[in-house]
Amino acid sequence: MDQSWRSALRRLALAAGVAAFVGWLLDITAWTLLAVFVAYTIWHLKQLRKLQLWLQSQDKETPTSDGLWGKVLDDVHRLQKSHLQTQTRLKAVLTRVQDSTAALKDGVLMVDSHGNLEWWNKASNRLLGLKEATDLGQPITNLVRDPNFKAYFDHAVYDEPLEIASPLNQDITLQFHITLFGRRDRLILVQNITRLKHLEAMRQDFVANVSHELRTPLTVITGYLETFMENQDMLPPRWGRALGQMNQQSQRMQNLVNDLLLLSRLETSHNQDHAEVHVQPMLQTIVRDAQSLSGERQHKISLESVDINLLGLDNELRSAFSNLVFNAVKYTPANGMINVRYWQDETGVYFSVQDNGIGIDSRHIPRLTERFYRADASRSMDTGGTGLGLAIVKHVLLRHEGRLDIQSRLGKGSTFICHFPLKRAIETASAQGQSA
Ligand code: ADP
Repeated sequence: MDQSWRSALRRLALAAGVAAFVGWLLDITAWTLLAVFVAYTIWHLKQLRKLQLWLQSQDKETPTSDGLWGKVLDDVHRLQKSHLQTQTRLKAVLTRVQDSTAALKDGVLMVDSHGNLEWWNKASNRLLGLKEATDLGQPITNLVRDPNFKAYFDHAVYDEPLEIASPLNQDITLQFHITLFGRRDRLILVQNITRLKHLEAMRQDFVANVSHELRTPLTVITGYLETFMENQDMLPPRWGRALGQMNQQSQRMQNLVNDLLLLSRLETSHNQDHAEVHVQPMLQTIVRDAQSLSGERQHKISLESVDINLLGLDNELRSAFSNLVFNAVKYTPANGMINVRYWQDETGVYFSVQDNGIGIDSRHIPRLTERFYRADASRSMDTGGTGLGLAIVKHVLLRHEGRLDIQSRLGKGSTFICHFPLKRAIETASAQGQSA
């Protein structure tokens, strides 16, 4: 027990003892004891009142008292002092955070769990046209009036940022990053990415223009080379090898130009009308082509396919599927097995190509869909690979709300799986007949 408590109890006991003794002498013990307890209670009430008045007045000067009350007042004073210090420290931190976010070029906004604006920095006024006087507490979706923003905000899955035109100027592109915190409060970061967009567009235009310009001279060169090859017997024999190599390299360049043009089309053309794509006959043609590409290497290529169509773009899906199947032929030694499958289950529609070829080291897998990334550069060159095939597959799948999954073990083989959402499946009459 605390020292002050002990002395308070001692004093009470002493007062009660004296009162009892005096009461015994005068034969009024009960009255003297009652008088002592009433006086004691009144004294405590007075101390309590003093404490209450002091707390209400927020006077810095601590009132003095002795004994237990002195200790209580001291403790309260100490608590108050440390609370004040913490408050001052927090205020300083908050001011610094506010100053630094105010100096930011990017917009920072805080939105509560109901989607109402709680706080924002100055840059947000400039980027989104917010006004402190009227917009505080307003729903953010009323202030950024873009259906894409509303859908993104309400969906509450913020793995990827959102890009939309600024509500103030359609020529400015803004990128929104949203982070959930606390009890579904949101921190929104807004960046002006117009310059980045311009640079990206310039890069895409440049690649598309160069590829386009290279097309005609390449067609002329390959045309002449083919004529020379056809009439080789009229040429000196030592030209044969050179012609063969020139023909092979010009073919590679043509493949490269075609792939670059296809990639830039995939990046730049949007809002194309998706239609019903007949996948099964497409796969049958691809497998036939793969068999002729395999030629003397005689791969065993099998096809298992359901008769389900996909909502999409025929030429793009053909390009993605054939890239995967032809890769399997390229990277599987002679007589290898290649299994092409197309199926549907309750989670989606899937296309997969499995081979027992050279396989890929796991460290390469995350980077395979980057342009010009090759796990084995020399082998890719030998096969006439451009290094763009999987980048094309990735882009095509993105445009069909799909994704690519790669499983592989070095020396054992690889499986490439394309996932499509179920909503893209279109049942054909024959499939309906089978399920009926
Ligand atoms: P490339 O034109 O070089 O084949 P891709 O983009 O199609 O380019 O493929 C990228 C790299 O992925 C290839 O260079 C190759 O190393 C690896 N790769 C792709 N498919 C397979 C496969 N079925 N088996 C083993 N490696 C593969």
